[in-house]
Amino acid sequence: MNPLAFLDDALEALRAEGLYRRLRVLDGEQQARARFDGREVINLSSNNYLGLTTHPKLREAAIRAVKELGAGSGSVRTIAGTMELHLTLERRIAAFKKTEAAVVFQSGFAANAGTVASILGKDDLILSDELNHASIIDGARLSRAAIRVFPHKDVAALRRLLLETSEVKRRLVITDGVFSMDGDVAPLAEIAALAREHGAIMMVDDAHASGVLGKNGRGTVDHFGIHGQVDVQVGTLSKAIGVLGGYVCGSKSLIEYLHHRARPFLFSTSHPPAVAAACLAAFDVLEAEPERIERLWSNTRRFQAGLKRQGFDIGMSETPITPILVGEAELAMRLSDHAFERGVFAQGIGFPTVAKGRARLRAIVTATHTEEELDRALEILGGAARSLGILS
Ligand code: PMP
Repeated sequence: MNPLAFLDDALEALRAEGLYRRLRVLDGEQQARARFDGREVINLSSNNYLGLTTHPKLREAAIRAVKELGAGSGSVRTIAGTMELHLTLERRIAAFKKTEAAVVFQSGFAANAGTVASILGKDDLILSDELNHASIIDGARLSRAAIRVFPHKDVAALRRLLLETSEVKRRLVITDGVFSMDGDVAPLAEIAALAREHGAIMMVDDAHASGVLGKNGRGTVDHFGIHGQVDVQVGTLSKAIGVLGGYVCGSKSLIEYLHHRARPFLFSTSHPPAVAAACLAAFDVLEAEPERIERLWSNTRRFQAGLKRQGFDIGMSETPITPILVGEAELAMRLSDHAFERGVFAQGIGFPTVAKGRARLRAIVTATHTEEELDRALEILGGAARSLGILS
């Protein structure tokens, strides 16, 4: 008997619900126009907001680092795997975010989960937006703290929860800065003010705001002008920065504490030199080429106006993340497949990534799409939606 036979049953159930996905294979570079599964498509599915994955300065920095320092770091940070390059990157990130210190993790996921799980414990309470990222949810569970979820962006509900739980000594209020499936922005100034008023720790996950919002892409804290009012800022190096990794910014004590207690930092090998070097080059590009961010936003406005004109429902989006709401997962997957066959890659997303009945295509605009590509994508998406009866 195969003890893993239940996995086949689970996969069968996914197929029946239209939620089974084959991995699409990228043949070549991650670009605005790319080849997936042997088909050239307009790529609206990457997080490569600024086109930095293939920027010549990042490539050169990575190649130089491999030549000078090798392919791997050979150890976890706390034993023999801290190179000068890792520290230079952390100083650079802290200066960019205007905080005392920063620490880099292997991914944004590790940064969120490792931080939440290490600063909170079983007597503590986490107040978390219902649409927060999975890495926050997993970190919260790992911490063994009590978790209270507040309705999406509902400041009044958060205030009530803070008042109700005033007897708990240590509380964390946590929100995504930009929500990854809807593209809306947290009311961070209000939330941070509430956290402060009630003596709670304030943490924001700026994975989709870094490189997108704020001056030169400094994120939501800069966007709202609330430097110094958010205790823990997480960002990722995997999206707009174009490489891989995550980071936490805050006070020196927070960062030193994470050096001693954040489990992915302690128990998982540090980045290869090429990753750290390419990330450093990316911060140079953010400062030197602000026009990339301007282009990202003008492309976003063009694309979203075009979708609305055709009658698409793009929900609450305020950023380049653009949901195209469809409803049932099966229909979303069919729309995604139809669009793909006609030359546009916009991933279909269903439960459990989004709520049941809220399935969608998730399109992400980048700075490197040309206006012609965006207009063509609009035409193809409209045609595919009409052929499926989603638009009339
Ligand atoms: N937070 C949010 C909101 C995200 O969307 C993601 C990426 N899916 C992460 C964190 C994790 O970042 P990374 O891909 O660097 O692990």
